[in-house]
Amino acid sequence: MVTWQVIIKIKDIVLSFFQKQFLLLRQKLTNFAPRKSNNYWTIENSIATYNIDKWGDKYFSINSKGNISVTPEKNSAKKIDLFKLVKELKSREINTPLIIRFNDILKDRITELHEAFSKAIETYEYQNIYQGVFPVKCNQQKNVLEKILEFGSPWNFGLEVGSKSELLIGLALLQNQNSLLICNGYKDKKYIEVATLARKLGKKPIIVIEQKDEVKRIIKAVQNLKATPLIGIRAKLSSKSSGRWSKSVGDNSKFGLSIPEIMSTIKELKKANLINEMKLLHFHLGSQISDIAVIKDALQEASQIYVELCKLGAPMEYIDVGGGLGIDFDGTKTSSSTSTNYSLQNYANDVIATIKDSCQLNNIEHPTIVSESGRAIISHCSVLIFNVLGTSQISSQIKISNKKPQSLIIANLIETLNQLKILTKKKVNLSEIIELWNDAKKFKEDCLVAFRLGFLNLEERAHAEELTWSCAKEIAYNLNNDEITHPDLYEITETLASTYYANLSIFKSIPDSWAINQIFPTIPIHRHLEEPFCKGNFADLTCDSDGKLNSFIDNGKIKSLLNLHKPEPNKDYLIGIFMTGAYQEALGNFHNLFGNTNVIHIDITQDNSYKVKNIIKEDSKAEILQLLDYDSDSLVESIRINTESAIDQKQLTIEEARKLIDQIEISLRNSSYLSE
Ligand SMILES: *Cc1c(COP(=O)(O)O)cnc(C)c1O
Repeated sequence: MVTWQVIIKIKDIVLSFFQKQFLLLRQKLTNFAPRKSNNYWTIENSIATYNIDKWGDKYFSINSKGNISVTPEKNSAKKIDLFKLVKELKSREINTPLIIRFNDILKDRITELHEAFSKAIETYEYQNIYQGVFPVKCNQQKNVLEKILEFGSPWNFGLEVGSKSELLIGLALLQNQNSLLICNGYKDKKYIEVATLARKLGKKPIIVIEQKDEVKRIIKAVQNLKATPLIGIRAKLSSKSSGRWSKSVGDNSKFGLSIPEIMSTIKELKKANLINEMKLLHFHLGSQISDIAVIKDALQEASQIYVELCKLGAPMEYIDVGGGLGIDFDGTKTSSSTSTNYSLQNYANDVIATIKDSCQLNNIEHPTIVSESGRAIISHCSVLIFNVLGTSQISSQIKISNKKPQSLIIANLIETLNQLKILTKKKVNLSEIIELWNDAKKFKEDCLVAFRLGFLNLEERAHAEELTWSCAKEIAYNLNNDEITHPDLYEITETLASTYYANLSIFKSIPDSWAINQIFPTIPIHRHLEEPFCKGNFADLTCDSDGKLNSFIDNGKIKSLLNLHKPEPNKDYLIGIFMTGAYQEALGNFHNLFGNTNVIHIDITQDNSYKVKNIIKEDSKAEILQLLDYDSDSLVESIRINTESAIDQKQLTIEEARKLIDQIEISLRNSSYLSE
């Protein structure tokens, strides 16, 4: 009896020992070490790594093949495999980098916005309607605006324009006579005249006075044209905003009229007999307002101004609450700058309830509610896909030489590495490890000084650097995830990380990531049945050291490294950057002359398939050069003249010259991005 018990006990102990060792080993390996088999890795692990269940909303998830799946509606049978789609596009010569726009998602966003407002109107028994407009500056592409107007037509969804060029787009595209055309931005005589005459076309333009001197121009236009526009006024609110665009409100904001200015404008309009056209009050808090409290305060102040304008005798009909409706880029539902602490429904409820309260209290008819939500409508439908061209890692291949090192510093580094090796074999003592790592860093700095002063040659410096990286690796391999994130050691992860070279220009395709550190969800679109055991970030094609993508979402925190797979030889490694539909295309620039990427519009069909609705081909090099006034024919011609003189001087054969010119001509017709 006793012996059996003992045997079972021993068996348990042995088993648990091996289990522990296995777990420890696994923990170490998952940090950095490459591993072949990873059957244990499931899509649930990937979901947890990339938080796609949080930011993906209902639109993006991972399918059983380990690829990103796109669906326009919750529980919809319509689903497509993003990886498969990109592969099939490639076979049609539509290569990455590539923007894919999902019409169905755009439609769903527009529908959701309207449904949220109808629900709020019903809940609060509001006695008027919601009638929104799309701010053109968010995405001016013709296809996009046409789709927005098509999907929004059941609700007479309109457009907001902020310049004369945008006004022309608005006039051309907006055919629905019941839709609003809100005219914002600085307005000169021409802008005002065109908007005024547009009313005669049967359209509904509302000129929103943003600057005091616009009143005089409006009055003059009315006299010249014998036509009157609908007029709105933009108020400068005193309520505090938050976030990046907080300066859009407040006494020093760029746009809008202060209360004294509003008073004098009303007087001027009355004097000019135009007060009867004064219909709309507008305010705009800035974009991506994360905190609902900010929106509420502004709404209260604006509703009160609205009530006062009515009392002053203006026949008010509309409150335009501007943009600012935020989206949850990181999925945390918090007031962090990449999230919102409210839902679309909360937003609609607050708008309706606050305005209703003020009007009710003052016995004023409920106005039509207008909003100018750009980001919230257009972000989700666009996905930017790029391929990885290669990776780089720091070198830490140590060649053990039997020669005694000449330099004391190198000897010190070798000694540090050996101590680390001993220490990490024993039970890990974090403070000692940190001390040794600090030593290693110090010795490396000393090396640099010694090199500068000529005491160390290039080979010795290389050896010293490799020794330091070996120290880093020794530590990284032997600590677990919690220990390695210790602030004093975090740079180890960063140093050992790989740079993934992205076939992309940050400046063209996601300028906000560079300009304002906007974070977009970034995730491989395939291989989610494999563990992403490398850590890395991205460098783009431009020669600009700012052309980097190194901020990623991590459960509410921001991290500089993303878990990534090791690219396989001769196979694409494709990364998706999500929620990029707002502002990015409009703001993108031609830094280093990388042009527009391919854009395609996709309709998802019932049988998990899709229809390609629209292909907008990328810019060729000739087209980009043309934009900067270079004519490709004369470029080729001047190179040809060069080749002629090189042929004369026998530096180039006729055959070589022809090849060179041929190559240049072909190249001008082709993409500015890298191809295989
Ligand atoms: C930019 C802008 C908007 C759009 O803001 P979003 O936050 O993208 O919704 C709306 N109205 C005005 C006046 C703007 O300048």
